[in-house]
Amino acid sequence: MKVEPYWWEASPPPEPAETALKERCDVAVVGGGYAGLHAALELARAGRSVQVFDKEYPGYGCSMRNGGIASGTTKMKLSELIATLGLERAKRLYQEGIDAENWFERFLGEEKIDCDYLRSGRFVGACRPSHLDALRRDGDAVSKHFDKDVTPVSKAEQHSEIGSDYYHGGVVTPEVAGLHPGLYHTGLLERALAAGVEVHSGCAVTGYRRDGDGFDIETPRGQVRATELVIATNGYTGAELPWLRRRLVSVASQIITTEPLPREVMDRLMPKKRMLVETRNMFHYYRPSPDNSRIVFGGRAGASSNRAEVKAEALRRNLVAIFPELDTTALSHVWWGYVAFPFDFAPKLAHVDGVHYATGFCGSGVVWASWFGNLAARRIISESAVSTQLGADPFESRPLYWARPWFLPFIIGWYRFRDAF
Ligand SMILES: Cc1cc2nc3c(=O)[nH]c(=O)nc-3n(C[C@H](O)[C@H](O)[C@H](O)COP(=O)(O)OP(=O)(O)OC[C@H]3O[C@@H](n4cnc5c(N)ncnc54)[C@H](O)[C@@H]3O)c2cc1C
Repeated sequence: MKVEPYWWEASPPPEPAETALKERCDVAVVGGGYAGLHAALELARAGRSVQVFDKEYPGYGCSMRNGGIASGTTKMKLSELIATLGLERAKRLYQEGIDAENWFERFLGEEKIDCDYLRSGRFVGACRPSHLDALRRDGDAVSKHFDKDVTPVSKAEQHSEIGSDYYHGGVVTPEVAGLHPGLYHTGLLERALAAGVEVHSGCAVTGYRRDGDGFDIETPRGQVRATELVIATNGYTGAELPWLRRRLVSVASQIITTEPLPREVMDRLMPKKRMLVETRNMFHYYRPSPDNSRIVFGGRAGASSNRAEVKAEALRRNLVAIFPELDTTALSHVWWGYVAFPFDFAPKLAHVDGVHYATGFCGSGVVWASWFGNLAARRIISESAVSTQLGADPFESRPLYWARPWFLPFIIGWYRFRDAF
């Protein structure tokens, strides 16, 4: 079993290269994931000189480690948004997810980024009979307010979606897509470099100072002066960026992949090649690999050990609970990465003390990090407010939080308790 992302087989991380820093540029971008590269690409195409700094290499973070489920849905379901925010704001917010998904699909098509993007749809499995009722009610709200279908699937019909009896039925949302996250990042990086973006690997931003009409940015390889600063470090934000670090809770998410399975087994377990998630709090997300040769299975494997085999075994047990026939199937890869949650569970497009932030994607950043990175750039280019419903709420920390999430074990324990009972 390899302890590295399966995606690296088709898209290995870029070779480290010692690049020369420019002393001045229009925009400095910190972080070379989807958010940082989208911001950089849009800005470079608008004629700005842009340097991207990554403390490891572009794609080192979540952007080459994720499950490749591309969706513009939010943590809260539409019915919950309506109950919390009122109908009009909830509809605007939900609409932004549809806009983001459509923009994302257009972007991949126009840029001809070959990354196995396919709107194969998503099946959400109900872990309790009552969850199916809630899913159905939410589907009704979506169909009532939007030109979208959410198709209920009863337990009796479930095998048309997934070769498992584990769930009590579920719903299908057809517009959700899957892609190869590594190939997507590689294509995006190539477009950014071709547009003139300068990318510096192994070059951490260790601090910055706002001064006059710009920023002095510190790196171990020298100081850079930039008119604008975009920070897109998400779950990899370190102590060098204390303001942001106090506003994000980083959480590990893990993935395993099986060894290749016979085609007949794949066709039976995942007959429609859907993306798959489930309704419990400590949920799993899974899918067939883009070539339909194996299962990619992710979730939170627990923090009892940092050993890869222990994390892999925890996930494997959950995979087998869903698909008992995989009991003796070997695993080919295990890896993990760090996602970031703001305290209100809403991604952020923030502009504070002159710094632009695109961050806090709550584990759903394939579409959202791309969208918010692009919006951050458009905000700089147009020097005005850009329209975001989802990213506009205040970006707050909490008293006594200094980036050590001491409360996480209690919250996770509570979620596990609720899932069990
Ligand atoms: C296991 C896993 C599965 C996931 N599955 C899905 C999924 O199926 N669908 C989905 O939508 N989302 C998923 N996500 C989440 C998604 O991958 C992320 O939300 C998204 O990639 C975040 O992109 P980003 O550009 O904001 O940050 P990242 O890609 O994490 O990039 C941040 C970068 O910042 C750099 N950095 C940090 N500090 C500094 C500094 N001081 N100086 C310079 N560089 C710095 C890091 O080296 C890193 O490269 C998953 C995440 C994980 C970990």
